[in-house]
Amino acid sequence: MAHAYIGFGSNIDDRLTYITQALQLLLAADDVSLIKISSLYETEPVGYEEQGWFLNGVVAIETGLSVHRLLPLLKEVEGKVGRQHRARWRPREVDLDLLIYDQCSINTPNLTVPHPEMHQRSFVLIPFAEIAPDVLHPILGRNIRTLLSNLNDEKTVKLMEPPPKIDARI
Ligand code: ADP
Ligand code: MG
Repeated sequence: MAHAYIGFGSNIDDRLTYITQALQLLLAADDVSLIKISSLYETEPVGYEEQGWFLNGVVAIETGLSVHRLLPLLKEVEGKVGRQHRARWRPREVDLDLLIYDQCSINTPNLTVPHPEMHQRSFVLIPFAEIAPDVLHPILGRNIRTLLSNLNDEKTVKLMEPPPKIDARI
C-alpha cells in the first residue's frame, strides 16, 4: 500500500459542494482509503488574479493503485464533478493534483511527481503541513514543515471560518 497526498481546490460556486463531491468520489474508488483531510483554506488566486478566491486543502490516502492509475482516477473524478476545460490558471470547478506518492520521483509528459510547484505554494504547504508535516519531499530531501518555513509566498491563505463539516462518505 502506498501513501499519497492530493491537493484539491475550487473557485467556482458552490466550492464546498464541488470539493465534497470530489472527495466522496475519490474515497469511494476501489483501493483508496482515507487517512486524513486537512482543514479548508480560503486562498488568493495565483497566476491570473482576476478570479474568485479558492478553497484549498490536502487529503492523505492509502492506496493499492499505482501512481499511473491514480492520475487517471483523479482526472475521472474531476470530470464527474463537472470540471470544464479552460486555459491554465483559470477558474475551475475542481482541481485534484497528485502532490506526493510515497518516495516516488516521476517525470513523464503527463505526470510529474512530486508536483513541480508544490514547494512554492503556501496554499499547498499550509494544509499539507497541518496533516503530515514530517513527510519528506523525495527530491528536495526536506520535510513539509521545513519547506513551509523556508517559503516566501506573499499570497494570503486563511482558515475557512466557520470550519465546514466535510462528509467524505457517500
Ligand atoms: P493545473 O493543475 O496545472 O492548473 P490541470 O489540472 O489542467 O492544470 O492539469 C494539466 C495536466 O497536468 C494534467 O492533464 C496532467 O496530465 C498533468 N499533470 C502532471 N503532473 C501532475 C500531477 N502531479 N498531478 C496532477 N496533474 C498532473
Ligand atoms: Mg491540476
